[in-house]
Amino acid sequence: MNPQDIWQTVLGDIELQISRPNFLTWLKNSQFLGKADKDDGVALVGLPNNFAKEWVKSRYHKIILGSLRNVDGSIKNIDYVVVGNNAASQIVSAARRIKSEAEAVEPQAPLIELKVDPKTNLNPRYDFKTFIVGSSNEMAYAAAQAVVRDVGKKYNPLFVYGGVGLGKTHLIQATGNEIMAAYKNRVSVLYVSSEKFINDVVWAIRNKRMDDMKKKYRDIDVLIIDDIQFIAGKAATEQEFFYTFNAFYENNKQIIISSDRPPSAIPTLEERLRSRFEGGMTVDIVYPDYETRLAILKTKMKENNVVLDEKIVELVAARVQKNIRELEGVLNKITFYEQYKKGRIDDKKLDEIINEAVQVTPKNITPNDIVKTVAEFFEVPTADMTQRSRKQEVVEPRQIAMYLMRDVLKMSYPHIGDRLGKRDHTTAIHACEKITREIGENPALNQKILLIKERLYKM
Ligand code: ADP
Ligand code: MG
Repeated sequence: MNPQDIWQTVLGDIELQISRPNFLTWLKNSQFLGKADKDDGVALVGLPNNFAKEWVKSRYHKIILGSLRNVDGSIKNIDYVVVGNNAASQIVSAARRIKSEAEAVEPQAPLIELKVDPKTNLNPRYDFKTFIVGSSNEMAYAAAQAVVRDVGKKYNPLFVYGGVGLGKTHLIQATGNEIMAAYKNRVSVLYVSSEKFINDVVWAIRNKRMDDMKKKYRDIDVLIIDDIQFIAGKAATEQEFFYTFNAFYENNKQIIISSDRPPSAIPTLEERLRSRFEGGMTVDIVYPDYETRLAILKTKMKENNVVLDEKIVELVAARVQKNIRELEGVLNKITFYEQYKKGRIDDKKLDEIINEAVQVTPKNITPNDIVKTVAEFFEVPTADMTQRSRKQEVVEPRQIAMYLMRDVLKMSYPHIGDRLGKRDHTTAIHACEKITREIGENPALNQKILLIKERLYKM
């Protein structure tokens, strides 16, 4: 059997053993990469990101190993690895999907082209011409422009942070593209996701090829690292990043970093690295205001040669507020729908598309739904959460459920305490405050809660 067939068999087996949402969240995008070495019996399983990797390793290792061994008895253990640039492959598959949907309806629909420069890893799609500047990002934009003018000198490192879909990747890639255009071939730029950086380091350590790695990064003048928060807390990677960083810094080379939060809020970040970050220029990107959102929509329409009713565009700008990627997504859906129907979208469909994007809380989520979803996520019995069980493994799930009852349903503390093990209202207050505090500090917790909410809203 080839690796793919093996993995299909294994997944089929696992699917029967764990809950469907967990299977879809954690294992659907996994891959079997074959054995590390022909004879050492170590199987390589690829997951799309670090969070999934850690989660799968800690929760499903036994099940996976058991199933794999049923298929191939020579397998003794598993190494979990983060594979490839998931963002890129997601975009490619999304593009393919859009393409095939478009072809089904409209045979000559234009293809979405992706031409990432293999030398720099930069995508030419991201440039400053298409980057709308408003009050939400003008500081970040100005800092990026200053870096282009004065590479490696003033604003080093440039640290850009902000929430998901607010334009960090766009901005830092545009900076790289602009530097390439301004300095032609006199500088070399490299853009890497932090996943890629982590993979490089892990690979180099495992294969004793640290020197190659150092050489690769030594020849670069401008290093752009996206989503640095994922590097934090991985000792070897952080160490290596620190060396690279120092070598760069001492040679007046430029580093540009993005993150979903400021350096001070990455608690696992080594102190010396954090103070280095803070020694440069730190800027944030916040939610765009209405004018900016409208301008972005209009630019995207122009880019894609799309015409929509002004009222519709204004409605979308007014309602989709927190994520520019979503704003674009809504625009694409409406466009697609209008092309497909060959006419103006009706209000009901429009509302549906927007609601889906902004995930308004469905009115019918109940406390029970929260308990059930959280229990299922952590694979603990619902009864352990709602009764006075002191089992260690339900402590975190119960606190998260309390937090969600407060956050999503605005329930009173006494009521929350009562629902979850007949506890006192002070216990509920304590849990909610604890989780609220820790969300900002603990990326893994944050991720868990996002995933749980996603399931909850989809119910
Ligand atoms: P992040 O990296 O912060 O998650 P991205 O840079 O990937 O966000 O941005 C999400 C999408 O929104 C991209 O398609 C990007 O081109 C678009 N976008 C973000 N900010 C702007 C902006 N200021 N002007 C135009 N498009 C933007
Ligand atoms: Mg990004």
